[in-house]
Amino acid sequence: MRGQSSFRMVDLHADLPLDVVRRRRNGERQVLETRHLQKLKKGSVSTLIAPIWVESNYKPAKALKRGLQIANAFLEDLDESPHFQLIRNHEGFVRAEREDKIGIVLGVEGGEIVEDDLDLLRFFHRFGVRCFGLMWNQRNLMADGYDHVQDDQGLTEFGRQVIEELERLHVIVDLAHMAPKSFWDVMKVAQCPLIVSHVTTTRHVGLRNMTDEQLRAVADNGGIVGILAVNVVKEVETMPDLQIYCDHIEYAVKIAGPEHVGLGPDFYDYYIDDLRSLTPSEHHKFVRGLEDHSKLPDVITELSRRGLSDDAIHLICHDNFERIFKQIIGGR
Ligand SMILES: [Zn+2]
Repeated sequence: MRGQSSFRMVDLHADLPLDVVRRRRNGERQVLETRHLQKLKKGSVSTLIAPIWVESNYKPAKALKRGLQIANAFLEDLDESPHFQLIRNHEGFVRAEREDKIGIVLGVEGGEIVEDDLDLLRFFHRFGVRCFGLMWNQRNLMADGYDHVQDDQGLTEFGRQVIEELERLHVIVDLAHMAPKSFWDVMKVAQCPLIVSHVTTTRHVGLRNMTDEQLRAVADNGGIVGILAVNVVKEVETMPDLQIYCDHIEYAVKIAGPEHVGLGPDFYDYYIDDLRSLTPSEHHKFVRGLEDHSKLPDVITELSRRGLSDDAIHLICHDNFERIFKQIIGGR
C-alpha cells in the first residue's frame, strides 16, 4: 500500500453551509478556516459537496428565503477563506487540487428551495449549484422522502421536469433521502449518471439502507453510492465502529463494483447540539473511530487491510466522483 498521504478524499456530503450560516449569525467570521480546515486537511479531503439544507421549520413557505440566506452566508465565508475554492467545472476541480485548496461543490439537499418553478432551479445553477438532491425526509412537490417509505407516491410530473432540467443544465442529480418508489421512478427517466450521496447497504440494518437491486441500478446507470458514517446500525445495543463502516463499503463494492462506491460520511460533529434540538426524534449515533473528517485516512488503512487494491481505494475515495463530475459538468 502506498502511504495514506498519497490518497485524496472526496466527501460526497458535508453539511458545512448550515454550520457556517449559524455561526456567522452569531458574529463569527472565516468559519471554514477556523472551524473546519484543520480536520479536512488532516483527513486529506480535497473536494467536498456542500449542500444547502433548509431546516424543517422554514418549509415550505420560507424555504427559498432561508436557502438564499444559507447560500449567501456560505459564499461570503468562502470569499474570506483562502484555503477553500468554489468549483464550478472540471477545470476548477483540477485547479483547486493543484493549488492545494479544498474544492467546494455547492449542492442542494431538499428541492423545496425552488418551490414549483424551474426558473428558480436555473437561478441556483447560475449561482453555482452543481449537485442537486431533490429530497430530505419530507414529501415535496417533486417526490417523497424517507418519512414516506410506507406511502410513497413516487416522482411527480414536476419532479420529472426537474430531473430533465437538471440533466439539461449539466447538474449532478442526488437521490439521497428518496423513498424507494420515487427512487425507481427516477431511475426510469434518468439519462445521466447520478449519485446517492449518503446511504448505507443491507450489510447492517442502518439508516436508509439501499437494497442490492438499488445498488445494481445505480451501477448500471454509471453512478455512485456514497456510504454514510452516522447511524449505520439501528440496533440500540450495537455501537457502530470503523469495522461496521468498512463492512458497508465492502458490501457495496461486492454488489455494485468499486467504480460505483464513494464516501458520503455526513459528519456533523460540529453542530450536533443544534441538530439534537432541530430533530429531537432522531437518534444520532456516530461511528467510533470515524467521528469526523480527520479520521478518514483510517478508512483507507482498513480497506487496504481487508485486501482492496490501491486502485479500488483510489476509485472509492476520489476518482469515481471526478469521473462523474467530468462527464456531467466537464468544462461548462
Ligand atoms: Zn442528509
